[in-house]
Amino acid sequence: MDFKSIIRDIPDFPQKGIIFRDITPLLAHPQGLTAIIQGFQTKFAELNIDIDAVIGIESRGFILGAPLAMQLGASFIPVRKPKKLPSAVFRVEYALEYGTDTLEIHQDAIGVGKRVIIIDDVIATGGTAAATAKLVEQTGAKLVGYGFLIELDFLNGRKALPEVPIVSLVNY
Ligand code: IMP
Repeated sequence: MDFKSIIRDIPDFPQKGIIFRDITPLLAHPQGLTAIIQGFQTKFAELNIDIDAVIGIESRGFILGAPLAMQLGASFIPVRKPKKLPSAVFRVEYALEYGTDTLEIHQDAIGVGKRVIIIDDVIATGGTAAATAKLVEQTGAKLVGYGFLIELDFLNGRKALPEVPIVSLVNY
């Protein structure tokens, strides 16, 4: 499936000068989600790594991470925006272009030594994904890979990430 021809470019969203890559038409395609998950599965299989758990970053990371976890026979673990998770959390605050953002994970979500991958729809500057790696580290789990549907190469976000394999299905 030609993902790029189905992903929609929205100029000046959420701010002037930014081209937002809108994946909703791809999700709406009857075979879209299947093709995305198969794409991830193929690329992670090539890496030949054991995966105990898939971490999805709220909220588009949930849409992609949960079905991937099912296919891999792995746990699914949500990383959420503040004050959504009901039990004890680890919290990380990270810088945005203007201001900061916060993400949380349940302290007991994964388990020491478990091998996890982090999934999100887009890597731009890498700030969100790098912050999520810090949360994983706090749980004592081991980060073994990243998966993104879209990588914005010109922002070089992968430079901000720990040195683990990175899978991306569409590059701009
Ligand atoms: P980063 O932290 O700069 O890498 O931005 C990544 C986060 O922003 C991800 O959680 C994405 O969902 C979101 N994001 C950034 N750019 C886009 C885009 O063009 N389309 C959809 N989401 C985006």
